[in-house]
Amino acid sequence: MIYFSLNRNAPEVSFQEAVVRGLAPDKGLYFPKEINKLPDAFFETIETLDNVTIAYEAIRQFVGDEIPESDLKTILKDVLSFDFPVIELEKNMASLELYHGPTMAFKDVGARFMARCLGYFNKQNDNHQDITVLVATSGDTGGAVANGFLGVEGVEVVILYPSGKVSEIQEKQLTTLGQNITAFEVDGVFDDCQEMVKRAFLDEDFKGKRTLTSANSINIARWLPQMFYYFFAYKALKHKTEQLVFSVPSGNYGNICAGMMAQKLGLPIDHFITGTNANAIVPEYLKTGDYKTKSSVATISNAMDVGAPSNFIRIEELHHHDFEALKNNLSGYSYSDSETIEAINYLNDTYNYVADPHGAIGYLALKDYLKTNKAQGVFLETAHPIKFLPVMPKAIADKISIPSQIEVIIHLEKKSILISNYEQLKEQLLK
Ligand SMILES: *Cc1c(COP(=O)(O)O)cnc(C)c1O
Repeated sequence: MIYFSLNRNAPEVSFQEAVVRGLAPDKGLYFPKEINKLPDAFFETIETLDNVTIAYEAIRQFVGDEIPESDLKTILKDVLSFDFPVIELEKNMASLELYHGPTMAFKDVGARFMARCLGYFNKQNDNHQDITVLVATSGDTGGAVANGFLGVEGVEVVILYPSGKVSEIQEKQLTTLGQNITAFEVDGVFDDCQEMVKRAFLDEDFKGKRTLTSANSINIARWLPQMFYYFFAYKALKHKTEQLVFSVPSGNYGNICAGMMAQKLGLPIDHFITGTNANAIVPEYLKTGDYKTKSSVATISNAMDVGAPSNFIRIEELHHHDFEALKNNLSGYSYSDSETIEAINYLNDTYNYVADPHGAIGYLALKDYLKTNKAQGVFLETAHPIKFLPVMPKAIADKISIPSQIEVIIHLEKKSILISNYEQLKEQLLK
């Protein structure tokens, strides 16, 4: 598959090059040149297929012949080694739980797929240079990336996180792995970490010494595998007669945009709903027609504290930059922290279902949409509530038992390198 830059001022590239580069040289996001519908027979028989086969059919055209079928299937088998349960709360409302992976965040699938693709390309390349994946994290991304890349040969992972600003569990997920993972604890806030990463990418002194790449959701290998969730949910709910709609708690809009790719491939999805916290850039846009990015504000659903959603441009491309077409396919709602807490309590009291703050926003948005529309609704539960214990209502927090993935790391020793400025980071990386 050929990819082009959405800024339309850079050479077209292969899948491999798009994965290794992350961002095009004109700073545009890569986008596939063609999107071909899957055959009807695939959807007609999907309930007879296992997750790996479904995922393979969904992604094969985007990888092309750059990874042979058997290797790609091996990668997918490894990536998808856990469940994606659909939990029906009511007749027309279900939760799709995406948090059963190793770090209990939905980002596990994308991070693991990207890591294995880079590892594969590295092995094919004899005189390769090791790749350094550099990521800034406010919590969830770093853990998923670190875990996804753990032990992948030829790839070193460097994670920057703001000291004292991530939860204890998240910090353990970043700092206890060892091997090819190094954590830098930055004396500052998330924006300082992000700034250092950006400076490193532009720094000529790394040329010839380290090949730096990013692992955030702009990378096609992290973005595209998120399509799988929508296929899995469709398989589970295919027997329902109502139209299928998905409500997605959104920050950078990678996940929901992957759902729209699945729709382009022919998956019968009637409509998308985006739920946000106070960072309501897209819901505002859908209301006013005026796209205004802002500085982000802090909320209890902090993985969605994004004021300039990086993947939104891909959504616009999928709708041919036509505002009316977009509005027909996407509705948006935003919620305050107190509404989010109320929803967590309501879900617990009514269904005995424990949602995290992000999933609770997905639920609220779905409920609002279903007030005026008839559909079979699915909201995405994007993280396990254990990762957001400090902001969960106390009575609910107390009843959450610690999952085994978390139990094993909680007693391990934290190892991080404390830094306070870019020069210190650079010195460490050039050692
Ligand atoms: C990253 C994240 C989101 C937002 O996903 P996007 O693809 O950036 O829109 C939502 N919930 C959780 C728990 C996340 O970690």
